[in-house]
Amino acid sequence: SADKEKATNVAKIKVVVRKRPLNKKEVSKKEEDIVTIARNTNSLNVHETKLKVDLTEYVEKHEFFFDAVLSEDVSNDEVYAETVEPIVPIIFQRTKATCFAYGQTGNGKTYTMQPLPLKASQDIFRLMNHTYWNQGFQLFVSFFEIYGGKVFDLLNDRKKLCMREDGKQQVCIVGLQEYRVSNVDTVKELIERGNATRSTGTTGANEESSRSHAILQLAIKRPIDGNDSKPARLVGKLSFIDLAGSERGADTTDNDKQTRMEGAEINKSLLALKECIRALDNDQGHIPFRGSKLTEVLRDSFVGDSRTVMISCISPNSGSCEHTLNTLRYADRVK
Ligand code: ADP
Ligand code: MG
Repeated sequence: SADKEKATNVAKIKVVVRKRPLNKKEVSKKEEDIVTIARNTNSLNVHETKLKVDLTEYVEKHEFFFDAVLSEDVSNDEVYAETVEPIVPIIFQRTKATCFAYGQTGNGKTYTMQPLPLKASQDIFRLMNHTYWNQGFQLFVSFFEIYGGKVFDLLNDRKKLCMREDGKQQVCIVGLQEYRVSNVDTVKELIERGNATRSTGTTGANEESSRSHAILQLAIKRPIDGNDSKPARLVGKLSFIDLAGSERGADTTDNDKQTRMEGAEINKSLLALKECIRALDNDQGHIPFRGSKLTEVLRDSFVGDSRTVMISCISPNSGSCEHTLNTLRYADRVK
């Protein structure tokens, strides 16, 4: 069918970079914008100022190429069109897809990620009500976070959950709340509820959320034999992952033991994620899921016919040059 054809046309892995504008603080500090974007050639340049031995300055230019590069004037709607929109129709064709936001805290991961599941569910409902009208598809929402290597349900008072692997190597999160939804407003409410739960941790809101991976999943199901009283069977799944701040992986030298342990966990999960995506791209039989809780949880989204979109969020300011280069190198290695 036309949809099947579309499915094969959607790249297995897509890496996109989004640059945010300079913020007020950076402008007031007269920081320079050192990132230039050339959307037509999908390239970007970082201009790094360095010092020679005689202490005179020179600029080293670093050039990167990605599947798409989005400058600070690109809207969230355009980000959706570039990343998730092409994937939505194929999750009705038994595909599992995952969209990640990666980058340093404050670079726009949450700003980028938050509107995406809402826009996606809008399109999903449109398909369910038109193309797939009367075919019994159902949409379910779940929302959880991984913090310090543990899973918490964001739609159930941050209840701590366990993972279990069944005989068929399927991973399931035991007791995870899944809400069946039939309109966009309910999806919006659930997202807002989950976000509020996410940020009411013990420490400061921003501190807490930058150390956790937030995972929102939209699952398309269909009752077996069209029998509504039986549990519905999974057709396809779309996961949105607002990753922990990439700089947190470097907290391994912090004075506080708890912080060090969390930093080590984040570092491990981001490295494991990179290895898993690389393995997907090389069509290797073996995908190293077991490297971290994050990759274990995502296991069923990586096997079979899957799609991955990585949105790397970068800041433009000279003060973040090193972080920006690290983020771009990570994104570069994923491909
Ligand atoms: P992160 O989740 O990576 O820590 P946030 O999404 O919270 O970062 O963004 C930090 C701040 O920058 C927020 O106030 C957000 O509104 C703003 N911001 C981020 N990206 C953009 C953008 N592309 N355009 C305008 N403002 C942005
Ligand atoms: Mg955030």
